[in-house]
Amino acid sequence: MPGKVDAMTMPSWVSGDESKPAPMPLLLVQSFVNTWDGDHNSDLLLDPASARDWLTRAGLWSVDRTPDPAELHRARAVREGIRAILMANGGGPAPAPAATETLRAVAQAGRPALKVDPGGQVSVTVEPADEPDAGLLALLLVIRDAQRDGTWQRLKACGNPDCRWAFYDRSHGQVGAWCDMATCGNRIKNRRLRQRPR
Ligand SMILES: [Zn+2]
Repeated sequence: MPGKVDAMTMPSWVSGDESKPAPMPLLLVQSFVNTWDGDHNSDLLLDPASARDWLTRAGLWSVDRTPDPAELHRARAVREGIRAILMANGGGPAPAPAATETLRAVAQAGRPALKVDPGGQVSVTVEPADEPDAGLLALLLVIRDAQRDGTWQRLKACGNPDCRWAFYDRSHGQVGAWCDMATCGNRIKNRRLRQRPR
């Protein structure tokens, strides 16, 4: 399949459970959202040491220290804000304003820099890169680009409320609603069938 990322060549910061990876650099946003794993009840952004390790490998943390609890709290709030938008991408309700509050605060405080390289390529970067919020801003820039090139709508959060795993929908017509039809899709469909009034 064109554009499919081979599991063997996946960067180390991508979960081994990633069966529907987004193209780069949107894969970074997807992997960030999937640092919380509802199935295994694990969160890579909870413990400062493991958070620093993951964020550094993903290129989202260049500060010469471990993130403090407030910074991790903000990172998780940004993550859940992005997830709320991905729920809407998957056909769920529009995110509540409170869900994206931290996302908006990070965006508002950020100072992206415009750059022109010697060849004339114009890019937006986050300067300086070693600010605690630089990685979160970098994620927002990736989201902005994806919204412009049309790939954003394909990044969705699984419709199973216990799962909410971020997956990239390559289906024709972008009709996918589950991270995996065999597990989440059938589980939810069976639950709805049981709940149907007789
Ligand atoms: Zn799922």
